[in-house]
Amino acid sequence: MMELSYQSMKVAHQAREADELRTEMRRKNLLILIYHHLLGQGYVSAAVALDQETNGGVRRFEVCDNIDLEMVLMEYESYHYVKFQKYPKLIRRTAEPGENRNARSSSSIKRTPCSAVKPLPKINPSQIPKSGNGAKRTTASSHTNENGSAVPPELSEFGLNVSSIRNGPAGEAANNKKGQMTDSKVSIPDAVKGAGSDSDHMERLLKPLSGFSGMSGEMRELAAIISRDIYLHSPNVRWEDIIGLEDAKRLVKEAVVYPIKYPQLFTGILSPWKGLLLYGPPGTGKTLLAKAVATECKTTFFNISASSIVSKWRGDSEKLVRVLFELARYHAPSTIFLDELESVMSQRGASMGGEHEGSRRMKTELLVQMDGLAKSKDLVFVLAASNLPWELDHAMLRRLEKRIIVSLPSSPARQAMISHWLPPLSSTGAVELRTELDYETLAKGVEGYSGSDIRLVCKEAAMRPVRKIFDALESHQDGDTEMPAIQLETVTTADFLEVITHTKPSARNLMDKYTAWEREYESV
Ligand code: ADP
Repeated sequence: MMELSYQSMKVAHQAREADELRTEMRRKNLLILIYHHLLGQGYVSAAVALDQETNGGVRRFEVCDNIDLEMVLMEYESYHYVKFQKYPKLIRRTAEPGENRNARSSSSIKRTPCSAVKPLPKINPSQIPKSGNGAKRTTASSHTNENGSAVPPELSEFGLNVSSIRNGPAGEAANNKKGQMTDSKVSIPDAVKGAGSDSDHMERLLKPLSGFSGMSGEMRELAAIISRDIYLHSPNVRWEDIIGLEDAKRLVKEAVVYPIKYPQLFTGILSPWKGLLLYGPPGTGKTLLAKAVATECKTTFFNISASSIVSKWRGDSEKLVRVLFELARYHAPSTIFLDELESVMSQRGASMGGEHEGSRRMKTELLVQMDGLAKSKDLVFVLAASNLPWELDHAMLRRLEKRIIVSLPSSPARQAMISHWLPPLSSTGAVELRTELDYETLAKGVEGYSGSDIRLVCKEAAMRPVRKIFDALESHQDGDTEMPAIQLETVTTADFLEVITHTKPSARNLMDKYTAWEREYESV
């Protein structure tokens, strides 16, 4: 008897296990079907986000012949019809938010993307700054800070935003959420919208690729590659995240941001520049500037680095360029950022003889596409960056009519950078990091360093006290269960100066060459 009930328990247990397994498999199958359905419909970013969330679990499977999500649904519908003589009701509209919804939509109107044409506000002539010192005025007014008196003057002067660093990406995401908006032409379920890792920063929904006219076979594949690797909904860099570079910021706003924001002002002789070159030493913030344009204007951001075009798509680079521009037009307003331009568009003479036929075709395609942009009214801007502008092909240079130097940080900017990355008190996550630094002296010490060099020096200086506690931490793990209370030593001016002696600025020697080039080629 006992034996029998044990047997039946075992059988029941096995059946339950098989059931659970089946449920798990069903869920997995569903995700795979959704993934392929999204891809098929051209919702490539959503599919990529789903794949990332499942750690690449869905991409590894394909759907069997004659099966897809739509078909499964159709089968269910016919089954329902046969059983109940009516089709099933699968979805219903979500409840009307009423009052709240109005409040929300009115606030989103205030944050219309730059692409939407807004009526120009009336400006009292007395408010118009005298020409030439507009930038200085802005800086001076930001001096009267909005947060209260705790911020030292230099922080507000250089647009420094310590709080965003302290709050981390989560804080920024929360801020960005305020500006979130949707494209009324597309409706992707919220579940999909929230799936991407950077979905919090997603400012507008991209149109599905299924509506993209240039799509066919190979092109579709290239478009999918670009979508996966190259474009970002919003790179999430604000103007205030860029320290110093006031002139460059002003020029970039003038050349790209305002034409997108106030298109009615930029017609005829003032029609916007289509190509802009940011040049200067590496690590000075060229990429940051391009990303700020995309973030602040909510344009789709296509980030192309030369090395990725050249190495990944050797044979296909030319087609890739074509699809890239078509996609940019499709998702307009868009910013195409071509990083390390000199590696794709070096002077033809420089690589004479050895130049690869494919690479030549790709260069030509890039020039053709830029000409196409110049003739069109599409809101697509090419922002190119180069560390070695003198190596650039002249045909390309002619198409990048507006050229802006992004130079090494000035003394106040260096000071602002150090106090930004090493404020008197910050947190490394688990422990507090204190510094006692004479920012003025340190700013002198890092003369000739780029922003990225200075960030590295700050990181290294912050690492010193952390390194000292590793021994204590390591020995602790062998013994007690309780973590020792950790107190980091304060980072001092001497520590920082010591780090400087071991690091060399990467581009100081080239500065003369940039200024000489600037004299010869700077536009306007
Ligand atoms: P580039 O494109 O000019 O080579 P990046 O814009 O990629 O340089 O800058 C590299 C890194 O250096 C940035 O991610 C940032 O951390 C730091 N950095 C450089 N310049 C600045 C700046 N002006 N303000 C803030 N951070 C900067």
